[in-house]
Amino acid sequence: MDNVYTFTGYSVQSVSMIVGKDGLIIVDTGIDSASTKKVLAIMRKITTLAIKAILIAHEHSECIGGILVFMKEGCPRIWAMSNFRDEAYSFKREGLSA
Ligand SMILES: [Zn+2]
Repeated sequence: MDNVYTFTGYSVQSVSMIVGKDGLIIVDTGIDSASTKKVLAIMRKITTLAIKAILIAHEHSECIGGILVFMKEGCPRIWAMSNFRDEAYSFKREGLSA
């Protein structure tokens, strides 16, 4: 599949990009803005298509920590499981930050 890219080694979580005909889908966002900015810079060497959506695998910080970097590129849709908020709530209840 030459329209799917996975970027590893920038943080503990890989960030993936699916290139469609008129836009991109991002799968997970990395753990923080600093590492995700590096990933985005490489993505932009591959394509300048707009980010249409972000798919979040689950509520942990390694999946959502870099989301603001992609949000600043536009206003993409964010797709997550229906119980995302419930899981994030219990995560915070335990004294951890998402
Ligand atoms: Zn996780």
